[in-house]
Amino acid sequence: MSEFRLNFQDTATAFADKSNSQLKEKYRLFKLLNSPTLNSIGSAAARFALSIGLPVEGLIKATIFEQFCGGEKIEECEPTITKLGASNIGAILDYSVEGKATEEDFERTKNEIIKTIERAKDDRNIPFAVFKVTGIAPLGTLERMSRKKKLDAKGQAKCERIHTRVSEICEFAYSVNQPVFIDAEESWIQDAIDRTAAEMMERFNREEPIIYNTIQLYRTDRLQFLKDSRRQAKLDGYIYAAKLVRGAYMEKERERAAEMGYPSPIHENKEATDADYNAALDYCMRHYEDMAYVAGTHNEESTQKVAAMMHEHGVPPNHPHVFFSQLYGMGDNISYVLAKEGYNVSKYVPYGPVADTIPYLIRRANENSSAAGHMSRELEMIEKELKRRRL
Ligand SMILES: Cc1cc2nc3c(=O)[nH]c(=O)nc-3n(C[C@H](O)[C@H](O)[C@H](O)COP(=O)(O)OP(=O)(O)OC[C@H]3O[C@@H](n4cnc5c(N)ncnc54)[C@H](O)[C@@H]3O)c2cc1C
Repeated sequence: MSEFRLNFQDTATAFADKSNSQLKEKYRLFKLLNSPTLNSIGSAAARFALSIGLPVEGLIKATIFEQFCGGEKIEECEPTITKLGASNIGAILDYSVEGKATEEDFERTKNEIIKTIERAKDDRNIPFAVFKVTGIAPLGTLERMSRKKKLDAKGQAKCERIHTRVSEICEFAYSVNQPVFIDAEESWIQDAIDRTAAEMMERFNREEPIIYNTIQLYRTDRLQFLKDSRRQAKLDGYIYAAKLVRGAYMEKERERAAEMGYPSPIHENKEATDADYNAALDYCMRHYEDMAYVAGTHNEESTQKVAAMMHEHGVPPNHPHVFFSQLYGMGDNISYVLAKEGYNVSKYVPYGPVADTIPYLIRRANENSSAAGHMSRELEMIEKELKRRRL
């Protein structure tokens, strides 16, 4: 590998658009999140307070929501879209409402996702749209579909409605030439998501990569799945497009596997996940001409690796088949430095009613806690910048 390295320690660039008071505010929040005890008490308290109707929404909105979300509605995200755009970072409007269960909710969410595509089209500041299939489909049906269980007439009707909703979103995206990611979720519903995503890619990725499926490399079987999927796409004559992530549901996956007595689908340790993630990046780089991919990560080494491989292969930083993406409120040292160097980079900007974004916020809070005894990466960067500014 070449010596090519980007400087992700450049906190002046990472936080250039944060005022001193915004930086201090960010520091206070990440300091709180960093404490495993406060973090777990906070997560449980937020869930409990909301469930019994305590008026804590205002407090959540002014603190953790403010750091990780763009607003409650698309319009409230506009300043964030503009601000990121000014630094050449794309925004990806992510309607982060989870845990809904009725057909009316699913229809409403589908319409909202279509609105995000409508807002994104023709705006170079919004390079992708995104959705989660569980936002528009009942979990039980996805699970039965994934187990390839025979569905009764009611189940069949639900399955058809899921298919119609996904098709409507993807058809609309195709009609306005707006690329869309389909997020990956728990392994026991993922097969239904993968099959639907493959069908949508086959329909809509004939000329351009419009539909992207997501590959979670913390799963032991996904590197092979990535290779098989790309080969199949080639055979079937469409452009394969993938967002590569490590995976966000590790604890839940392991707990369920232990409870139900099947082998955990997740790698045994972080090193094994990292090895597969980096091998997947390698594989995609080898095939970048006939596929498109997104490195969805806050990991500096993985990001360095993609940049170095591009450099080595003579691939320009803004090649239309290679993208980087982070989550709003995290990995700014990566996003802003990549953007400054001319790479294609974007950030998920989650939005939605405060109470409905709690599962998303709890995942972010847990990721930023120092459960392993280390200071979180984010906190380290913020501290470095505070010192640099002598604050
Ligand atoms: C743009 C974007 C889109 C995303 N979309 C999705 C999505 O669709 N679906 C989804 O599930 N997640 C998604 N994520 C979240 C992602 O999967 C990770 O949870 C998160 O990004 C942290 O991983 P990392 O590569 O950034 O950093 P790192 O800190 O290097 O890796 C942390 C990750 O490593 C893995 N890991 C940690 N400890 C162990 C262990 N002991 N054994 C095995 N593996 C371990 C876990 O996956 C953990 O999340 C997305 C993230 C981004 C930035």
